[in-house]
Amino acid sequence: MTAVPHAAASHVLPQNALIESGELADLRASVAALARSYGRAYFQTVTREGRHTDALWAEAGKLGFLGVNLPEEYGGGGGGMRELWAVLEELGAQGCPLLMMVVSPAICGTVIARYGTEEQKRRWLPGLADGTRKMAFGITEPDAGSNSHRITTTARRDEATGDWLLTGRKIYVSGVDIAQDTLIVGRTEDARTGTLKPCLFVVPRDTPGFVRNLIPMELQAPEKQFELVLDDVRLPADALVGDEDAGLLQLFAGLNPERIMTAAFALGMGRYALTRAVEYAKVRTVWKQPVGAHQAIAHPLAQAHIELELARLMTVKAAALYDAGDDTGAGEAANMAKYAAAEANIKAVDQAVHTLGGNGLSTEYGLAALINAARVARIAPVSREMILNYVSHQSLGLPKSY
Ligand SMILES: Cc1cc2nc3c(=O)[nH]c(=O)nc-3n(C[C@H](O)[C@H](O)[C@H](O)COP(=O)(O)OP(=O)(O)OC[C@H]3O[C@@H](n4cnc5c(N)ncnc54)[C@H](O)[C@@H]3O)c2cc1C
Repeated sequence: MTAVPHAAASHVLPQNALIESGELADLRASVAALARSYGRAYFQTVTREGRHTDALWAEAGKLGFLGVNLPEEYGGGGGGMRELWAVLEELGAQGCPLLMMVVSPAICGTVIARYGTEEQKRRWLPGLADGTRKMAFGITEPDAGSNSHRITTTARRDEATGDWLLTGRKIYVSGVDIAQDTLIVGRTEDARTGTLKPCLFVVPRDTPGFVRNLIPMELQAPEKQFELVLDDVRLPADALVGDEDAGLLQLFAGLNPERIMTAAFALGMGRYALTRAVEYAKVRTVWKQPVGAHQAIAHPLAQAHIELELARLMTVKAAALYDAGDDTGAGEAANMAKYAAAEANIKAVDQAVHTLGGNGLSTEYGLAALINAARVARIAPVSREMILNYVSHQSLGLPKSY
């Protein structure tokens, strides 16, 4: 067997000045340099030892990478989703994706920056921006799943004190153990049934009645998943972010960033896997030429590259529309970008593992774990099928079956 060194990941996908500004390319290069200095081995070690990526997270925060999308007056970089997406993609392309970026600065940061009171912005945004504070996000419920309109987590007002009392259950909420707070999507007693009129509450991790149970997962990642049980969790009046009567708009503010960032997560992982496979295919020789000379190996890798690049282009569109304030246009593009990136990543990882032959399944080469990890972006935060439903109904005007 020819040994293949774990060389630093290269930029499989060249940056194009017509698509991205020089500043963005510089940001990508700086993030890639930071992530490379930690490397995949760091990520694997902390995961294996049950630790977290605290050191990388803290350094990325100090360098301004984690809050690059948040307003400058609250400690952020004043950029948009283009920048935040670039950060997560580059971390992932070096084998060090920081999953909590999808929820903390992207969903929670955006919702608070857009709909929080001045006091709430001052309380939470600077920490989210420099990474000293993380916020998880809980919407999924065991009996609602993909149908968010069925969520039953209910907020009741204590008329005597003005406090809120929150009761319900959530499932598959990422990173609750490492986040000081969780942004919980509930509904008020007055709007308990029917079309969802969501209310968003910031729940500090140690609030009495807020219980988290670890869900064992077949995923090798430092971030853990939790079931949450909320039993009359008492929150002050100002735990409510935004207006209780605002309807879906406030929640939707966070969902386009969530989809764009999930695309970034998938694109980074796909690039990482493809880079490893290409390096290997160039040197592993069992006949006269390296295995990468066989079209049976080269063409699927070329296809994976094309499909990742296509997904990236849709992500460019989604981020550009979102940053320009076109939430509706961004909705379609963000869903398509998430779909395309997740599917491209699954194919890239599959082909990367196969390219390494038996080594693809070894612990040493570290690619097999990505097979499970790549599936996350297909099911979360919104499944492949729900995106196909969205496009069927919203883009094509086809009738609904549900
Ligand atoms: C690793 C991981 C991290 C996560 N992190 C978070 C988090 O931080 N916060 C959070 O709130 N949630 C999180 N989730 C939950 C995630 O968003 C849900 O798993 C996802 O929305 C799907 O819901 P479900 O699991 O209940 O599947 P279900 O809704 O039960 O769906 C089961 C299957 O049926 C399909 N299906 C459902 N309805 C339809 C339909 N109308 N048409 C066609 N097919 C349909 C789905 O596509 C899926 O394949 C996470 C999940 C995972 C795996």
